[in-house]
Amino acid sequence: MSIESILQTVFGYASFRGPQQNIVAHVTAGCDALVLMPTGGGKSLCYQIPAIARQQAGQGITVVISPLIALMHDQVGALHEAGVSAAFLNSTLSMQEASDTERQLVQGRITLLYAAPERVTTPRFLAQMDALAERGALSLFAIDEAHCVSQWGHDFRPEYRALTVLHERYPGVPRMALTATADALTRADIIERLQLQSARLFVSSFDRPNIRYTIVEKRDATAQLLRFIRDEHMGDAGIVYCQSRKKVEETAELLCHNGMAALPYHAGLDARVRQANQDQFLRTEGVVMVATIAFGMGIDKPDVRFVAHLDMPKNIEGYYQETGRAGRDGLPAEAWMCYGLQDVVNQRRMIDESPAEDEFKQVLRGKLEALLGLAEATDCRRVRLLRYFGEESSDCHNCDNCLTPPAVWDATDAARKLLSTVYRVQQMNGFGFGAGHIIDILRGKVTDKVAQHGHQGLSTFGIGADLSEAQWRAVLRQLLATNAVAVDAKAFNTLALTDASRAVLKGEVAVRLRVAAAKPERSRARHGATAVVPKVAVSLDGAAQARFHLLKEWRTGVAREHNLPAYVIFHDATLAAIAQAAPQSLEALQGISGLGERKRQAYGAALLDCLAQF
Ligand code: ADP
Repeated sequence: MSIESILQTVFGYASFRGPQQNIVAHVTAGCDALVLMPTGGGKSLCYQIPAIARQQAGQGITVVISPLIALMHDQVGALHEAGVSAAFLNSTLSMQEASDTERQLVQGRITLLYAAPERVTTPRFLAQMDALAERGALSLFAIDEAHCVSQWGHDFRPEYRALTVLHERYPGVPRMALTATADALTRADIIERLQLQSARLFVSSFDRPNIRYTIVEKRDATAQLLRFIRDEHMGDAGIVYCQSRKKVEETAELLCHNGMAALPYHAGLDARVRQANQDQFLRTEGVVMVATIAFGMGIDKPDVRFVAHLDMPKNIEGYYQETGRAGRDGLPAEAWMCYGLQDVVNQRRMIDESPAEDEFKQVLRGKLEALLGLAEATDCRRVRLLRYFGEESSDCHNCDNCLTPPAVWDATDAARKLLSTVYRVQQMNGFGFGAGHIIDILRGKVTDKVAQHGHQGLSTFGIGADLSEAQWRAVLRQLLATNAVAVDAKAFNTLALTDASRAVLKGEVAVRLRVAAAKPERSRARHGATAVVPKVAVSLDGAAQARFHLLKEWRTGVAREHNLPAYVIFHDATLAAIAQAAPQSLEALQGISGLGERKRQAYGAALLDCLAQF
């Protein structure tokens, strides 16, 4: 079968997306590739279709290396549903199950085998690969989440380094590496570590146009989160990221108290609870997962409608990967982050206090600064995000700054006053003071501490009374973000000048800040009808909606029977298309997106029955 007919008959999709066709053709022809594509871009088909085509051409099996053990079951399940023979080998299998799979493997009855990197490099596995290679039945290695090989990536896994064995041991077997993390440093590292120097590089646009980016100033983060979900996403599936386990627990509880189906996920939970919560998120509709970054890698649930960050991630790669879990189905989705002074302080401190080498810390600081620049930006967020990944674009009209351009004030003078106060107290006392005290001086508050140190005698005392405390904090946040002032964690979090302070003090650098919104930053009214996320069924008329709900009920039953998430059986969009078309024969089901040949055979009659009930 040609790659086009595999796409249509096996997966039920009419056409390739973006660069998929070139990638699939290149890899099917037996050439190496490095594929950089954003989350939700459609990487899986890039190796699944070559795997099927090459197996049909008698070239044997494809080994997919993935760190996502928890998801292999569903990925393999999805392939089975599409009629593709697939299996996985990982630590969740019993001895008996593993040896059954190994037997099928040796007999060449598997098209795609998913395995974890630590499994692939065991002598036992390599011996089986040797036997296949000898018979010319080892077709392709697909190394998914390839950024795990790099310490510059955000999820370094030392096991990935050992994958060079594949190239050394099986030089004739084509390899492809895939990742959604693509900054230049990580990219170069992947190529070197996996010895992919001669592989062709395929870089897709990293834009995810259906995701709306919003970054709000943190005031009362949990109240802001509640409002965000209530106003825009009640009943939707979403992910809320927090930095600490404690905050995960508290936030999940708070959401539950407010009538939302929220579950916690973090590395401190019992493995069974974690798995059960993940399953529930994948298998039940409208669950909000509150999680640390331990959750989410490889989560391929297509209908996650929002990703919210209550704390700032470490860098843009992390932010983009996490927010990219929203809206894989291409329907409107939101990335919302709440960001404040403490985030900047915490992230900087984590880098300062880490035991890493100075050179490494410098890289981390640079990455953090790029994210801070994004958070402080008053222009298009998407332009900045894409530029970070080496892509130029123009205003997106789908981020907060484009939709509601923020009013900006010139805070250059205020910044100079603040830095000059930091300088003066240091001069006067021989040691520094914390943010609260510096702001008290600027605002002319005679606190006990001010009196004790005689700070009302400073020339900057009271010169900033015209600004509120919140405004001063915003000035300070931007100075911290641009590294024009530092927090010395080793000296009671006191503020200190840095090399970059001088230019601000001299007035050479302009500081522009958004005017803090006096009212809550979001409300339904502000966004009007366009902001309400159109769920897939909203565009259906009354009768089609009713059919859609019947079909969903039917799907729930099938999914339960097959022990798979509902979207593995059919995406909502596929059910909506069926509900709309209301076909009356098996033939009429042909051509519906997401309904491949195997699924039409297996479920066609049941689908028609279901529609007939209506
Ligand atoms: P990635 O691994 O890059 O994050 P996936 O491979 O999970 O993305 O694909 C994202 C979604 O897009 C999946 O639901 C997949 O079925 C769908 N998809 C991929 N390619 C196509 C295509 N050519 N036509 C329609 N849907 C597609």
